[in-house]
Amino acid sequence: AGDADGADAPIAVELDGVSKRYGETAAVDDVSLRVREGEFFTLVGPSGCGKTTTLRLIAGFEESTSGTVRFGGESMAGVPPEDRDVGVVFQSYALFPHMTVGENVAYGLNFADPPEGTTRDERVADLLDLVDLPDATDRDPESLSGGQQQRIAMARALAPGPDVLLLDEPMSALDARLRERLRAQVKRIQSELGITTIYVTHDQEEALAVSDRVAVMNGGTPEQVAPPRTVYRRPATRFVAEFVGDNNVFAGGVVDIPEAGELAVDVDGGDETHRVAVGGDEEAEAEEATATQLPDIGDRIAFCVRPEHLRVASADKPAGGETGAPAGENALRATVASAEFLGETTRVTLDWGDRELLVRAVDPLDGAVTVGFDPSDAHVIDVESR
Ligand code: ATP
Repeated sequence: AGDADGADAPIAVELDGVSKRYGETAAVDDVSLRVREGEFFTLVGPSGCGKTTTLRLIAGFEESTSGTVRFGGESMAGVPPEDRDVGVVFQSYALFPHMTVGENVAYGLNFADPPEGTTRDERVADLLDLVDLPDATDRDPESLSGGQQQRIAMARALAPGPDVLLLDEPMSALDARLRERLRAQVKRIQSELGITTIYVTHDQEEALAVSDRVAVMNGGTPEQVAPPRTVYRRPATRFVAEFVGDNNVFAGGVVDIPEAGELAVDVDGGDETHRVAVGGDEEAEAEEATATQLPDIGDRIAFCVRPEHLRVASADKPAGGETGAPAGENALRATVASAEFLGETTRVTLDWGDRELLVRAVDPLDGAVTVGFDPSDAHVIDVESR
């Protein structure tokens, strides 16, 4: 419940305990995932976490060491890539330079017939319309920008009408601006066709921007599979909390449980003991078991607070003043170490005892500051029982 639309859609692709070993290395380690029909599903994680290998197992370019890949409930064991009804787009566009754009797309049809009542040329024209390059038929692929070439590669992959589209870092060779434009196009094309899409990227921002659900991978295994908003707001693990966006992770001991879902915590770090309140998030309470309900007094916990949820004020201004300065319980004293101006906001690094905190600020900040947060903006990611 609470997932993106289509939560009840049939399962298009399923990985059931899938592992892939290369000698001692488990590139993919006991992965179980279910991708729904029509879903935009993204595998995201740092280099070497097993994203590409997972995608290659789905495409059929690799055979798993153990476990089963199923399409529409059917095992794909021994089924070669060309019989899996998948379209694949790689990082390198791999268009044929000696063919026109139209010929490249037509090549994607292979020996498949165009849909009933359509000629090959009409099918090519439809696909070029779909990727928003209607006039490119006779062009030489090398005369197109990287983003345009990648859209042609998508048109070619979509030509035979595959059930599943697999995209492996299709934007990583492009500059930032082109990537943003192309990702919007990819998202539009995917939703226009309603095609099940599995997307691999190391770029967490891209993953959040385009996906219905995201699998955040680490060491060959997904640590969390959830819609982007959940992954961002309620990271399941410390790794997810730190990989997806900026975050501040705190650790400390639970000293009191004033009411259900709320904790009083003595946090480590800083120059003195700070007692902070954590939890009390209505949305989280609505979910069945939240991490804040698990600890006991005396347990050690870790929790995270996003930089945009840390409120900062100059230490010499009265607390609770016009600046929205933090007051009371959750007020930590820190010092501005550095600031990066990003346009809309400034990303400020604070020294807090022997560690750093990240905050977002609109107004310039300098010197001594106090930092506060709402208990409901603190999310517990780990509990270590006493
Ligand atoms: P990247 O973003 O760098 O491509 P990735 O998340 O896609 O990383 P994989 O390419 O799937 O990761 O690799 C996962 C692990 O498996 C890595 O440690 C990699 O070195 C190893 N690996 C992948 N392919 C092979 C292979 N053919 N032979 C040996 N080891 C491999």
